[in-house]
Amino acid sequence: MTQSADQVRRATCGELTLDAAGQVVDLRGWVHATRDHGGLLFVDLRDRFGVTQIVFDPHSLPQASELRSEDVVAVTGVVRRRPTGTENPKLATGAIEVGAQSLTVLNRSKTPPFPIRGDVEVDESLRLRYRYLDLRRPAMQRAIALRHRVVKAVRDYLDAQGFLEIETPMLIKQTPEGARDFVVPSRLHPGLFYALPQSPQLFKQLLMVAGFHRYFQIARCFRDEDTRADRQPEFTQIDVEMSFPTQDDVMTVMEGTMAAVFREALGVELTTPFVRLSHAQAQAEYGTDKPDLRFGMRLCDLSPAFAGTEFKIFAAALAAGQAIIGWAEPGGAARSRRDFDALTAAAMERGAAGLAWVALGSDGVKSSLPKVALGEETLARLRSLTGAGDGDAVYMLAGERTATQTLAGNMRLHIAQLRGLRDPKTFAFCWVVDFPLFERDPETHALMPAHHPFTAPAPGSESLSGDPLALRAQHYDLVLNGTELGSGSIRIHDPQLQRRIFELLGYTAQQVEERFGFLLEAFAYGAPPHGGIALGVDRIVALMLGTDSIRDTIAFPKNQRFQDVMIGAPGPVEPAALRELHLRIDVPPRAQT
Ligand code: ASP
Repeated sequence: MTQSADQVRRATCGELTLDAAGQVVDLRGWVHATRDHGGLLFVDLRDRFGVTQIVFDPHSLPQASELRSEDVVAVTGVVRRRPTGTENPKLATGAIEVGAQSLTVLNRSKTPPFPIRGDVEVDESLRLRYRYLDLRRPAMQRAIALRHRVVKAVRDYLDAQGFLEIETPMLIKQTPEGARDFVVPSRLHPGLFYALPQSPQLFKQLLMVAGFHRYFQIARCFRDEDTRADRQPEFTQIDVEMSFPTQDDVMTVMEGTMAAVFREALGVELTTPFVRLSHAQAQAEYGTDKPDLRFGMRLCDLSPAFAGTEFKIFAAALAAGQAIIGWAEPGGAARSRRDFDALTAAAMERGAAGLAWVALGSDGVKSSLPKVALGEETLARLRSLTGAGDGDAVYMLAGERTATQTLAGNMRLHIAQLRGLRDPKTFAFCWVVDFPLFERDPETHALMPAHHPFTAPAPGSESLSGDPLALRAQHYDLVLNGTELGSGSIRIHDPQLQRRIFELLGYTAQQVEERFGFLLEAFAYGAPPHGGIALGVDRIVALMLGTDSIRDTIAFPKNQRFQDVMIGAPGPVEPAALRELHLRIDVPPRAQT
């Protein structure tokens, strides 16, 4: 019996269930897998929505025998219950199959360079070379769909909070965010260049001057940094700016945004408000400004426990004004001496001179420290300072305070990793606040902003007097599971204060005029107090997916050398284009990779 077109229902490969039994359907998709079972041909047909099993009788549809993986086909057929015992409960469509009545091959596929199915390990350079095939793989389809839901949740939430999404230009001058700018030569203004924005920072501030009150943008940013693992030269931020906010107002909006994102996109309820730590506390207790709060093992200063110690190494460190930083590992006393040796080696690989440990076993105390170092009183203090009890281990590192905290923080993460405490399905957010306004460039020792030069000093630091490194900023970072998601600040809106900050940073009056004249001018026309933040979309999605690589969250990312190996970018341009731009290439041809 033939069906008229209007009786045939177009369906996706993910939707048919027993409810559709008896219906004639038209399915289109890719051949996912084929199986020849005693005269009948089973084809799994795949599209973005799922997989449906099609059964062909090769006698009536001989073309079916020629189907290969990734061919694109249209099939009509009747939905029917699968024979008892052959159902697949893991598949949404696993109760039914479609008995094919017609088959049209819409396009053939060459044999793909890697299988599209399952979680087969494929070399990343091959994946990126054939990204359109890689993106067909279920994991990538899920990642890109999740990213869509994340961005949609952000838009919906911020819209409901009265934020307007406003685009800012891509061809601009410069935003001093700390990295190099990508530059674009201007044909109409030979010898002059645009820069691609490192962020919309100055434009969003100008939108506040313009009275828009609450702005956001899913903003593409460009930074010409040196290639580093898991960075991209272009990335996406949730960029936000508000007028008349306190620091808490910005943080509350972002907590609401993150809660909406995790609820809508992942079905996870976050607890708000998030934990808040001062920058100093984060350094002292976690040895980093990006603490991972999924587990305890907080660092503490064990120097008081060893005051007056006869153990020479610790005594010398304390005499030199250094610190002994320690932490407790619950259950750590069960470690073997070999384990402790391996941990010591790990600490030394990270730059420590050694690692001292004490195992508070039920059968007595064992330690790498000599007996003289561990009197009853010292042990009691170690227990009370670290909170360690019977069955736990205590670790200690001695040296210059900040460096030793950093090392200890590293070892804390290492031990947590070994114990499986860094569970990617647990989401521990925190804010780090009370940052310094300035820091020193580790190489040049020049004063530089800890965030960016538009960050307002904290109350008490506005006079900018005294040691610049002691000044505090109204700057906050959002951290998730030990990863910084982004930074924000209350901004300077007073042109005089902004000029003084530029001066302190070493800009000449002329440089200030040239680079920021427009901003200072705008501030002279009634700029409202304002502040904001930007969070990295790629990173948020990566953490939600539990992947280490932001490349897995971007449809068409660059590789680790910032190349697009599929389209061949960066690439040379036509000599004619260079002539038009009055540009001459001065690179030996072989260096142009
Ligand atoms: N523009 C800053 C950045 O991209 C964030 C901000 O201060 O809003 O890091």
